[in-house]
Amino acid sequence: MSETRFCYWCRAFHPADSMRLYSTKPAPRWRCLSSIEAASRSESERDRFGQLQTSYNRQSARQQAMNANLLRLVSSRGG
Ligand SMILES: [Zn+2]
Repeated sequence: MSETRFCYWCRAFHPADSMRLYSTKPAPRWRCLSSIEAASRSESERDRFGQLQTSYNRQSARQQAMNANLLRLVSSRGG
């Protein structure tokens, strides 16, 4: 059995080696690394991810239009 700690963020127990003391008021509390990383990622990469998502959506829309055109072309030839 490995040691576990209570994660105040998830309100669940995680393995102790994936836990970090997270400074909160009034006292530091244990929080798991993945939740800390997820939160910091979502803060620092929100803008960048938003831009990526926008360009990705634009690209995939173009791709879908191209595919539709190709399909139409192929099907209009009647196989
Ligand atoms: Zn957690």
